[in-house]
Amino acid sequence: MPTPNIKLPNMDHYWVPFTANRQFKAMPRLFKAAKGNYFTTMDDRQILDGTAGLWCVPAGHGREEIAAAVGNQLRTLDYAPAFQTSHPLAFEAAERVAQYMPAGLDRIFFTNSGSESVETALKIALAYHRVCGNPLRNKLIGRERGYHGVNFGGIAVGGIAGNRKAFGNALAGVDHIRHPLDIVNNAFTKGVPEDGGIALANEFEQRIMTLHDPATIASLIVEPMQGSAGVIVPPKNYLKRLREICTKHGILLIFDEVITGFGRLGTRFGADYFDVIPDIITCAKGLTNGVVPMGAVAVKREIYDAFMENSAANAIELPHGYTYSAIPIACAAAIATLDIFANEKLEDRGASLSGRLESAAHSLKGLPMVKDIRNIGLVAGIEFEAIAGKPGAMSFATYLKCYEMGVHVRYTGDIIAVSPPLTIEPHEIDRIFSTIADAIKFVV
Ligand code: PLP
Repeated sequence: MPTPNIKLPNMDHYWVPFTANRQFKAMPRLFKAAKGNYFTTMDDRQILDGTAGLWCVPAGHGREEIAAAVGNQLRTLDYAPAFQTSHPLAFEAAERVAQYMPAGLDRIFFTNSGSESVETALKIALAYHRVCGNPLRNKLIGRERGYHGVNFGGIAVGGIAGNRKAFGNALAGVDHIRHPLDIVNNAFTKGVPEDGGIALANEFEQRIMTLHDPATIASLIVEPMQGSAGVIVPPKNYLKRLREICTKHGILLIFDEVITGFGRLGTRFGADYFDVIPDIITCAKGLTNGVVPMGAVAVKREIYDAFMENSAANAIELPHGYTYSAIPIACAAAIATLDIFANEKLEDRGASLSGRLESAAHSLKGLPMVKDIRNIGLVAGIEFEAIAGKPGAMSFATYLKCYEMGVHVRYTGDIIAVSPPLTIEPHEIDRIFSTIADAIKFVV
């Protein structure tokens, strides 16, 4: 794809994350502006944002309310030390996030990203059992194909081989259970698959009973819908059964809602969609509409109270935190974003558009190479047949062709993922999928 007549920056110094740098620098895709549901490229093309940035711009780009809140805050209080001092907006933001969370998860720890939220949640889980006098509960369980960010705890419980194998044996004391994707029986299911949920969840109990002592497990972490591994929608009753097993064995259930939080499934959180309340929720991304890095970990009040009640007086109950935890501009952005959600009822908008997205996505069934289509809320995944010896080649070529045709989608493995802003218009949903269809026909 040519990059016509534009002055490019010096590309030598920036090591672009999660990107094939040599390919990218030979054919860069640079945005210079964004508004609503569109990016503007360096050569003034409009690109429809079919991915809400990196799943992080649910309210659409260039929101004036957020810009004003951040700008005002920056001019009033730029920074207050995050340890031993604080500022009122941190408490207000925590209150607002607590009100947005499922009932009971109302103690909030702020971080700067999804990865940090995951590390924080895992550390809280381990430390919680210690303050409760159960130091032997020190194993962490994750799932195959889980994505929990890129820090050591996150890749240890994460289950995407490509993100782990370059870094050796990251952490001991970790095990994984099966992911819930069953293409053989559930290919082209619209929404949540009906069958198999309980049996699959029971494998978790089987595993901890046979291979571990359940009394040695600190926590199980799952994404309610696995986003980064390619839109894996769990079958009915699966998460409910995981909840029951965790409760029975005293294991903390962590929902990593970095993608599923803030309206993506047409509800506030995946916990609301599946009607399952975990002990801890991690979030980030949509919390500030992608504008300022910020994450949050919401824990049940009992967990917070256990730290307060069982630590020595005047001791730091949790020796953990970040220089930029709850920095003023992040708090301002989060509050402004939550205001937008409240005023515009964006979750409801997501829910009302999910049928349109489902029909548009499944209209691609029958196209060459298309092996499965999955959807839930305002997310869809299109999985291609793998080409022997060329993993991801089909999805990457499709992604590039879509970009050339003015639509930004995401590719991961052999899957194209679509997750537009909740402000997307119905005709724009149709355009995203007709562009993907054209791209597939072109590529094959
Ligand atoms: N957890 C989940 C479920 C995610 O999807 C992501 C990012 O996509 C992360 C954690 C990591 O978030 P971040 O990239 O903000 O560190």
